[in-house]
Amino acid sequence: MNTILTNSINKLIRHELLTHGEFVALLQGNSEDLRKTLAYEADQVRRKYFGNRVYIRGLIEFTNYCKNDCLYCGIRYSNSNAERYRLTEDEILLCCEQGHALGFRTFVLQGGEDPYFTDERMTKIVAKIHHLYPDCAITLSLGERSKESYQALYEAGAERYLLRHETATKAHYDQLHPSSMSFEHRMQCLQDLKDIGYQVGCGFMVGSPFQTIEMLANDLLFIQEFRPHMVGIGPFISHTDTPFRENKNGTLEDTLLLLSILRLMQPTLLLPATTALGTIAFNGREQGILAGANVVMPNLSPVSVRKQYSLYDNKICTGEESAQCINCLAGRMNGIDYEIVVDRGDAISSNCISLCD
Ligand code: SAM
Repeated sequence: MNTILTNSINKLIRHELLTHGEFVALLQGNSEDLRKTLAYEADQVRRKYFGNRVYIRGLIEFTNYCKNDCLYCGIRYSNSNAERYRLTEDEILLCCEQGHALGFRTFVLQGGEDPYFTDERMTKIVAKIHHLYPDCAITLSLGERSKESYQALYEAGAERYLLRHETATKAHYDQLHPSSMSFEHRMQCLQDLKDIGYQVGCGFMVGSPFQTIEMLANDLLFIQEFRPHMVGIGPFISHTDTPFRENKNGTLEDTLLLLSILRLMQPTLLLPATTALGTIAFNGREQGILAGANVVMPNLSPVSVRKQYSLYDNKICTGEESAQCINCLAGRMNGIDYEIVVDRGDAISSNCISLCD
């Protein structure tokens, strides 16, 4: 093992800040041995803060209309094969009712950027959920909106927001998105969300088209500096109705290594083992947890629309009722000696970290 790799591993295990070159060394050194070493260390530190508890988030994919044309995404505007749907307010509330009964204490409302969901409509929905389920956290993942809109949604009761930065390399961002979208605006949105007081999640796809190790190192540097509360990463998976239909999928191995690195960079991070990870490998989510993830996001959307929220090909969990999904995941987590818990699963504040240490 070369010196820079050994030094980078040691610094990571001590949760010290790494340079771009050190992140590159870790990513270039990807091997079964390295993944095992880092997964072991990641598991140790995760157990220190979270024990064997895995948080669940009830995902409600409430619209697949989208005004954007991201080149990788199956619900992009110009995919005329996508069968569009949007849930009504009552349907969304029914998902929450069923989710609450099943033990969910976080609801994630995710959708394409659908102009139908104006601030007026969206704040009304958020306020209703907040009123009906005061013991639950509301997470939004609605894409880019104005700061005023984020503020209004926060005041209505949303506390968390997921907005993957997608890539921290501007030239790469421009390769993945149409010219109507901008890297600067996406980054500004993330800063606005943080300034308002949201618990913020950023993230990226592993193995997205044109991605290099240097770009991934930029992602890690950005995360190191931005210090989000959550990071969503999962493999890129091609979708037949997009310009990237022929591109290779991201790999399980790269995603697992990155999950361990992220856990060691930020020990209290909320880090999901994503559905995309479960799609590329039959036990991908279990492997993600064992590599350092501590969140899973079962689907609460009505089964009748699940297949239509098709971001990538062969997405799993599109045929089962919510109750079946949560039972299946609970069994999978028990199988690796972890347990899903009835808990909001808030980010641990930095005050607590110093007290706990
Ligand atoms: N519209 C919101 C936004 O832009 O954040 C939320 C919905 S968007 C579809 C959610 C995430 O799905 C994106 O941030 C992207 O990383 C991921 N995604 C889209 N297409 C994908 C693909 N082909 N493979 C893996 N992940 C994909």
